[in-house]
Formats: sequence, structure tokens, C-alpha cells
Amino acid sequence: MAARDDIGVYDITPFTQLDFPGELACIVWFAGCNLRCAYCHNPEMVRSVGEKPWQEVLAFLEGRRNKLGGVVFSGGEATLHPHIVRFARSVKALGYRLKLDTNGTRPKVLKALLDENLLDMVAMDYKAPRNKFRKVTRMRESLWDNFQKSLRMMVAGNVPFEVRTTVHTDLLDVADVAQMHADLEACGYRGSYHVQNYRHGPTLGDMTRQDAVLQVAALPVGQKVRVEFRNF
Ligand code: SF4
Repeated sequence: MAARDDIGVYDITPFTQLDFPGELACIVWFAGCNLRCAYCHNPEMVRSVGEKPWQEVLAFLEGRRNKLGGVVFSGGEATLHPHIVRFARSVKALGYRLKLDTNGTRPKVLKALLDENLLDMVAMDYKAPRNKFRKVTRMRESLWDNFQKSLRMMVAGNVPFEVRTTVHTDLLDVADVAQMHADLEACGYRGSYHVQNYRHGPTLGDMTRQDAVLQVAALPVGQKVRVEFRNF
């Protein structure tokens, strides 16, 4: 999917202590996404075009410079925004550290941000092994190939980053998670692998309540990539 000129910022969370390690931060939520994960908890944001103009975001950031140290670009998928690099420059010019939450499917945009040293941290979703990518995201497998380019770009660089997978047992099983973990070890990733259990709520795909949880005890204990579980 090409970047669209008509998508914008959906909302701002003015304060978070949880989403940017080591920083008091705000979250800028970008509208729109190029995936349609059935378990997505942000269906309105994904379908929105975003009503908040960037100037309003900038004015907010200018007013919080003495209170916040970090800004998180999240969504939706922030890298879809046609002016994301310019936005990142303006955030950095205000003295903030910048974290990007991304599904990794737009490696050219990620590279543009990295080439200008605009990112201080990246969190990337590993949605599924390639053979389950369409089932989880309801989009074509070529986007998984894009994700792999992003993953390898991050591994080759020196910007701190983390990888995470959301699990609903209707979509992924232990073997899938083990396969992604093995791929992370093989590609040279040496951070933590965050495996988070699906939490039931309104979703993009009308997911049913999960009646089983991943049998985490069956996962291999990584020697190089530590698995950290959330919501289990
Ligand atoms: S969960 Fe999937 S559909 Fe929802 S914002 Fe993230 S990548 Fe997009």
C-alpha cells in the first residue's frame, strides 16, 4: 500500500510511563493501517483518516518540552504517513527522544528515518510465520517479506529495538511462536522477545474470547533471545 496524503493523526495520549522505557513520554497515534489483524484493539483508529492536524500536535509538544522526554509514534501504522520523516525531524528538533512502534512492513520509510538518526528506539511486531501471515493480518504475504527486511535492518544497526508477538490461540500455536523465536535467534536479534497473550475486547475481526492460553511451558528456552511473557 502506498503512503496516503489524506491520513493524519488520530489522537494524542498526553502522558505515559509505560510505552517508552526510561522516558516520560506522550503517544502520537497515527490513523490508518496497511494490515487488518483480526485481534486489533484499535479498529476505529485503523479505519480513521485522522482529524488532528500536525500543527496541533507540534503545539502540544512545544508546550510539554519541560515535562516530557520522549515521544512515541504509534497507531495504526505511523510509517504510512507521507510526512512521517518531516514530523520526526520536527520532534527531534524540539529535543525529544523518539520511539517508533511499527509493524515493519515499510522498510524504505524505516530506512529513511534511520538514515537521519531520527529514531532512539523501535518496537516491531512479528505477526506470524510467513505461512500464517495472511491468516493473522488478512493481508498478502509480500508484506511479511517487507517485515523481514525491516527486522534485518534493525539487527544490523545500533538503535535499541524490541520485537513482540500477540497470540490468540485460534490464530497461532506454540510451534508458530517457537518458529518465530528460532528465526529471531538465527537472524542475530539479541534483545527480548515479548510474547503477549490476547486480551478480549472490541476488535477489528470480531475475535471470540480465547478459551485456551498458549502453553508457554512448551516453548524452548532461548539461549540468545530471552522470551518475556505478558498477560499470561
Ligand atoms: S494490530 Fe494490526 S491492524 Fe491493528 S494497528 Fe497493529 S498492525 Fe494495524
